[in-house]
Amino acid sequence: MNDSLKSKVLLHICCAPCSASSMKVLYNNYNVSFYWYNPNIWNFDEYKKRKDSVIKYAKELNIAFYEEQNFVYDYKNWIEQSLETCNLCYSLRLEKTVLFAKLNNFDFFTTSLLSSPYQSHGLIKQISKDLSLKHSLKFLYADFREFFYEGKNTLKQKGYYMQKYCACNKSYMERFEKK
Ligand code: SF4
Repeated sequence: MNDSLKSKVLLHICCAPCSASSMKVLYNNYNVSFYWYNPNIWNFDEYKKRKDSVIKYAKELNIAFYEEQNFVYDYKNWIEQSLETCNLCYSLRLEKTVLFAKLNNFDFFTTSLLSSPYQSHGLIKQISKDLSLKHSLKFLYADFREFFYEGKNTLKQKGYYMQKYCACNKSYMERFEKK
């Protein structure tokens, strides 16, 4: 089907490896654009690596990449907003996604966070449903986890960056400081 006839989906992208499994499900059926809003990533070098990797993947697929205009990386500010709690972290990022999608006339929003077996899938789904009601924009739910390892391995073989921890400083400490 011609892309112009497909429903427009704004896919919040947390990282390239997760986006690969999402795109396995969405690519043929929707007109997908990537949306990057992840101020939860500590530190700036890591933030850049993940973002550059997503931009590279968008180019490979020849799809649009969007991000917040005038966004300035400020991890201290992010901690004050999110308190490094997953609930707030998901909510803040997904609400930005919904608002951007509404402003730019997308039919649906969804997130690559639904790809990862390491994330709180049920919580992400519930937050997205609540935001969908709050802002009157359809949430496209799909369980992308089935394709997580396949997608991740495909991008790994192509040399894409593979992160080693969720994103925030707390998750870094939990991953590396306990050893
Ligand atoms: S562990 Fe991941 S989802 Fe939870 S607060 Fe940290 S970055 Fe956000």
